[in-house]
Amino acid sequence: MNISTSQALFEKAQHFIPGGVNSPVRAFRAVGGSPIFIKSAKGPYVYDEDDNEYIELINSWGPMILGHGNELIQKAVSDAIQHSFSFGAPTRREVEMAELITTMVPSIEKVRMVNSGTEATMSAIRVARGFTGRDKIIKFEGCYHGHGDSFLIAAGSGAVTFGTPDSPGVTKGVANDTLTAPYNDLAAVQKLVDANKGHIAALILEPVVGNMGCVLPAEGFLEGLRKICDEEGIVFIFDEVMTGFRLSKGGAQERFGIKPDLTTLGKIIGGGMPVGAYGGKAEIMNWVSPLGPVYQAGTLSGNPIAMAAGLTMLNYLNEHPEVYTKLELSGHKLVNGFTNSMKKLGLNYTINSIGSMYTLFFTDQAVTDFPSAKSSNLPLFGKYFHAMLDRGIYMGPSQFESMFLSTALENSHIDRIIEANEESLKEVIG
Ligand code: PMP
Repeated sequence: MNISTSQALFEKAQHFIPGGVNSPVRAFRAVGGSPIFIKSAKGPYVYDEDDNEYIELINSWGPMILGHGNELIQKAVSDAIQHSFSFGAPTRREVEMAELITTMVPSIEKVRMVNSGTEATMSAIRVARGFTGRDKIIKFEGCYHGHGDSFLIAAGSGAVTFGTPDSPGVTKGVANDTLTAPYNDLAAVQKLVDANKGHIAALILEPVVGNMGCVLPAEGFLEGLRKICDEEGIVFIFDEVMTGFRLSKGGAQERFGIKPDLTTLGKIIGGGMPVGAYGGKAEIMNWVSPLGPVYQAGTLSGNPIAMAAGLTMLNYLNEHPEVYTKLELSGHKLVNGFTNSMKKLGLNYTINSIGSMYTLFFTDQAVTDFPSAKSSNLPLFGKYFHAMLDRGIYMGPSQFESMFLSTALENSHIDRIIEANEESLKEVIG
């Protein structure tokens, strides 16, 4: 495959951009080789600068749940830009957006729009701290909540891919206020809570993890956390930046039937534009400025173009439940296909999946937490990644990521992914 234009761009990029990329995982460091530079995308396909075509499994790390170039969203954006790009003032669409979010995600009574998932999680813990008057938070090893200082402790996604789950530049003071527990370990959480009675403001987690690869909550885990938070007056935060509007129209919380106190959102909510949101119980959200004393603001928050894209996306998802049926069926078909291929090849790798999220882990161990995710054979994953890329399948370039299916994938595309997977496995295990 010729990727010479991408290679030349990457060479040049490294002179001007740290590592040549604006977000670390894009650099392909974990899998080796040069990243491909994307020129365009349509439906289930992306095209690189050398005009190679790939089937999409990244989908902008989640937002493009309807595939690329959705015409409704394109039209909403082109209509919106006729009226300028930003006002820094309230607009009708923000009200519609907030109302729609509260209908789709019933635990959210009030919501504030921000510009990224990182801003959403940073703001959510600030309001939780203000509301409780406590400083400490609990997060889980391998969960990623954006790059806010408090979360770069035992972080997943790019942080673990690059071996920096605890980033330099985070002060000891901040680090001391972040307590970490192993995912799926209720007893460990109880122990932390007992040892820090009256000091824990919030417990935040990915209700289904995408950022150590796809890892599901064990039976009773989310319920157990809800109970501990209730008993201790801890604000229970679901980070649904990945799972929101993906695992169902009400996110993981609807799927698992658990109500968090606060929810953070991103990705799909912007339809591909830079948007995030945090919201939840009114009694907590009433602490946010200007109603309450917890300060949080944004020049471009609720940006009219971003709201036009996001609102069109959410309205579509709200009115088309068949989106989720299709995603479930695609997910099942893909996982069955992968499982059959592994049987045929005598392999016993773990595949974790739910709905339209999945990760094939190169380990025989069940992957339920960070250590088991890290038992994967990373060099083998790197070879597999390139074997898939050579066959025109564009996957997340790290073992510690979830893949995201879109409704633009038809059965024929899923068949091609299954076939490429079988051939790639054969190639890499020799
Ligand atoms: N939370 C989760 C669960 C995420 O997956 C991400 C990003 N992958 C974030 C927060 C941060 O979002 P952003 O990259 O938009 O800042």
